[in-house]
Amino acid sequence: MATAPVADQQRLLEVQDADLRIQQARHRLETLPQLAQIAELTGRAADLQEDAIARGAEVSDLRREVTKAEDDVQAVRARAERDQSRLDSGSANAKDLQALQAELEVLKKRLSDLEDIELEAMERLETAEASHADATRQRDAIDAQIAELEAERARAAADIQDEVADIEAERVLKAEGLDAALVSLYERLRDQHGGVGAAALQGPRCLGCNMTLNAGDLRAIESAPADQVVRCEECGRILVRKADA
Ligand SMILES: [Zn+2]
Repeated sequence: MATAPVADQQRLLEVQDADLRIQQARHRLETLPQLAQIAELTGRAADLQEDAIARGAEVSDLRREVTKAEDDVQAVRARAERDQSRLDSGSANAKDLQALQAELEVLKKRLSDLEDIELEAMERLETAEASHADATRQRDAIDAQIAELEAERARAAADIQDEVADIEAERVLKAEGLDAALVSLYERLRDQHGGVGAAALQGPRCLGCNMTLNAGDLRAIESAPADQVVRCEECGRILVRKADA
């Protein structure tokens, strides 16, 4: 039967308490609410970025389309102006005159069609530019939100890390000079039992598993020498009895 000084057994409960607080603080660190929010917004930011890129490409395509329409209009207009000045100069003969007038009619019609195409392309470009600007604004807004949450998360994490460092220092003091066999049993049980290796016996109840011990086990535990390390019959954890009970 393992034994350990009563005072060490009592102090083990304080070590256990510190270990639990460290475990809880680390859990808080891993589950900071900002982490889930950042993950969600990062997904949305990626979608918005993709959208902004697609709309940007659309704008480039439409700019090319508008330029082409402008060039087409310019070419036909130049041709019409050339024909018009030849007509105005009076240098053309009757046959040419007729041909020039006929061509001018065609060119005017063509110019009007091309101007319609140009106008329509410009309108589509304007719409595309507006929606590109909108997508970019939305993406920038999400990016700013993520940066803010990231700063918030970093502040909260730094606070918790300070807290952990304090508890760890406290734990070192509490564990100093404790019976080595008791500590190693505690560490082993703690690993096996979700962070709780030692618990107090409160009345007939083990505070580790919250089970009430049966009368026979309880009697055996209560009658065991004070320096004997007893274990909960239900969960196997080190059971620490009240000192001087
Ligand atoms: Zn128990």
